[in-house]
Amino acid sequence: MQSPINEAGLTEQERLGLQAFKLRLRTSYQDAKENRPHKSASWGDDADQPQQHDRPLPPAPPVPPAPSVVQQAPVARRLAGRIAVGLVIVSGPGSLEMTDVQQQKIVAEVQNGLSFLGGRAPARDVTFAYDIQVASITTPATAGQHATGSDVFEQYEAPWRDAALAAIGQPAGSSGIARYIKTIKAAKSARAAYCAFFTHYQLQHFAYCRGDYVVMHYDNDGWGTDNLDRVFAHETGHVFGAPDEYALSGCNCGGSHGVYGRPNLNCENCADDGGVPCIMKSNDWAMCTETPYHLGYTMPRTSGLSPTPGVV
Ligand SMILES: [Zn+2]
Repeated sequence: MQSPINEAGLTEQERLGLQAFKLRLRTSYQDAKENRPHKSASWGDDADQPQQHDRPLPPAPPVPPAPSVVQQAPVARRLAGRIAVGLVIVSGPGSLEMTDVQQQKIVAEVQNGLSFLGGRAPARDVTFAYDIQVASITTPATAGQHATGSDVFEQYEAPWRDAALAAIGQPAGSSGIARYIKTIKAAKSARAAYCAFFTHYQLQHFAYCRGDYVVMHYDNDGWGTDNLDRVFAHETGHVFGAPDEYALSGCNCGGSHGVYGRPNLNCENCADDGGVPCIMKSNDWAMCTETPYHLGYTMPRTSGLSPTPGVV
């Protein structure tokens, strides 16, 4: 039996979370998922609209921290236990506004993506605690501007990102992001935390991960908004240390990834028959046998593998 929820008593965040959950229960939403475009396509598939979908990047260059900023940035090391997820929904002026419907869609897609990642945890110990912030900013559109310089990602990202950080009471740059992540980690009593920005502003690439945070364009490029859930799950995989497995990423089957230090054996370039479907390789709710280790799930003792000592 469902317990009645007094929606009047909910905070704005809670209401948004509940509305998103209800959206996911609708037949029309579930039908859209059944018929999502580019189902099972490799993330690197450029034959039909979608471009190479994402780019894991080195962490953002450090901005000199404000005196009050924490010394040690909390990092999301493994997908185990309670995970705090900060969603910063960036709403700008005019066509850059994130409407109520779009806000709900974002939260629903994130819930959908993370329910996949949580559901695949062998120990069933992964839960997500959300902090949802709608950051209203007045930063003008940067569309059409020609970015130059050494860090084009940062050039496109910084104006709206730093305004959004200010809107949620955080300093600019990577120190603001680190502080926000640390704040939600503590507030949610979480074992790890990360955050994601959703925006209509022009980006260098429509989805990417930079250290502890993810940036996603609402339109999700040629993949479309009904695939935001899987792209978000994929980017979250990068946050926790999972490498790309699609051919165009340039992956190879070696390396030492995630807290278990495992190679990338399902890499399309070298695995038998191009590997099996996996969220790190293609637009599927599927996972190869290595990705659980890369993500740092709590694995059965029978695996004989253990995480790097000292990593919690
Ligand atoms: Zn990727």
